[in-house]
Amino acid sequence: MSNVESVPAEVRCRAGTPAGEDGVEVLTPRRVPLGGPRAMNVHRTLPQRRRSLIGAWCFADHYGPDDVVRTGGMDVPPHPHTGLQTVSWLFAGEIEHRDSLGVHARVRPGELNLMTAGHGIAHSEVSLPSVTTLHGVQLWVALPDAARDAARDFRHYVPDPVQADGYLMRVFLGSLAGQASPVATFTPLLGAELTLRPGGRAELEVDPRFEHGILVDTGTVCVRDTELAHRDLGYLAAGASTLVLHNTGDRPARLLLLGGEPFAEEIVMWWNFVGRDHEEIVEFRQAWEEGSDRFGEVRGYAGRTSRLPAPVLPNARLQPRRHSRG
Ligand code: MN
Repeated sequence: MSNVESVPAEVRCRAGTPAGEDGVEVLTPRRVPLGGPRAMNVHRTLPQRRRSLIGAWCFADHYGPDDVVRTGGMDVPPHPHTGLQTVSWLFAGEIEHRDSLGVHARVRPGELNLMTAGHGIAHSEVSLPSVTTLHGVQLWVALPDAARDAARDFRHYVPDPVQADGYLMRVFLGSLAGQASPVATFTPLLGAELTLRPGGRAELEVDPRFEHGILVDTGTVCVRDTELAHRDLGYLAAGASTLVLHNTGDRPARLLLLGGEPFAEEIVMWWNFVGRDHEEIVEFRQAWEEGSDRFGEVRGYAGRTSRLPAPVLPNARLQPRRHSRG
């Protein structure tokens, strides 16, 4: 998906500090319209001022369930990315993906579609005409310096759903509770979908080097002393080796568990680009506007416009900021 803000701010992202007596920081979503008169909204929990990264996860948009008849569904024309990977994860609906690597794929619920932008890629995303309900998340992973100029790539993987006592789990990146994804990542990462039955508890061994995020899709999820509501993202700092998730409600609770080692590099995000400084962002934007082959060509997209123009850059230039933690 494209960052659809008309005047996107340039965000300097770095590891932050947790809040809350029990160590759980609740990141609440903000609503971002996807554009157009009937547009669907997405609910963004990353990045935000308080926190911009969880491991290398640097962007989280939740959407739906949306009635596609009312919203018109998703139609994102070809747009560029650099320095990141995108994860499209659906709960309902189906999206047609086309990219400048030549991949033409159907994104379906419960299936990982991991696109690596590396040096540069372009892609389009359109919900299929047969879809009545669209419901999912769009996640981005920042690439470390050693990999951010890598070649374009696209991976598809369907994790087996695993039934445990009290919950159902799909591990799409990294490993959790004896399940492991074969899809390689450039930094240590975890991505899993868990559905807790009413009253269900998941007691999970986790990597103590990882920080974690719990993005709640449906129901209410308790972690430590904190209750997370629909679309909240609960953050936990690194250090714990056990994570207990508890569904206190009377209907199933579905969530995404994201994790990773704190990302050591400072990044700059603007629109659909991840770079390291303002000058790079200017260069990426110019390359897209000039139709540079850095991003390649998306074939077969038959939408309203052939490509998304880049928004104007903010007037205020990013001031260098000291990298501090603690
Ligand atoms: Mn995109």
